[in-house]
Amino acid sequence: MRSNQIQEQIMNFKVEVFNINYGKCGLGGINIKLEPLGKCSKCEKTAIINIPYAKQKLCKDCFNDFFVKRVKKVVEEFKMFREGEKVAVAVSGGKDSVALLHALKKAFPDPKNICILYKSWNKILFR
Ligand SMILES: [Zn+2]
Repeated sequence: MRSNQIQEQIMNFKVEVFNINYGKCGLGGINIKLEPLGKCSKCEKTAIINIPYAKQKLCKDCFNDFFVKRVKKVVEEFKMFREGEKVAVAVSGGKDSVALLHALKKAFPDPKNICILYKSWNKILFR
């Protein structure tokens, strides 16, 4: 099954159980049970993610807000940095570091707070 077909079925909630082949040799498989999530806990849109520990089902926009608030709360709770301090975020270009950078920029919008550190053509650049 091609990834765009899987994504289409996920978005349309047409399939409850299907197999995805994984592994370099095509061995093995994984069963995923898809269930419609219903409406978002915060608004009327369709939920795309279930967060059991928070007891919430959220749509894309509400999940983005939830994620940014969660990052801000953790930074403040553990006193990772204070107002006015400069923070360098090492960005590889992968999804994890880019998501962290995005959330930090949203949570702490002062452009002086967050700096980007990334590697390009064997040089370390700092912005
Ligand atoms: Zn929502």
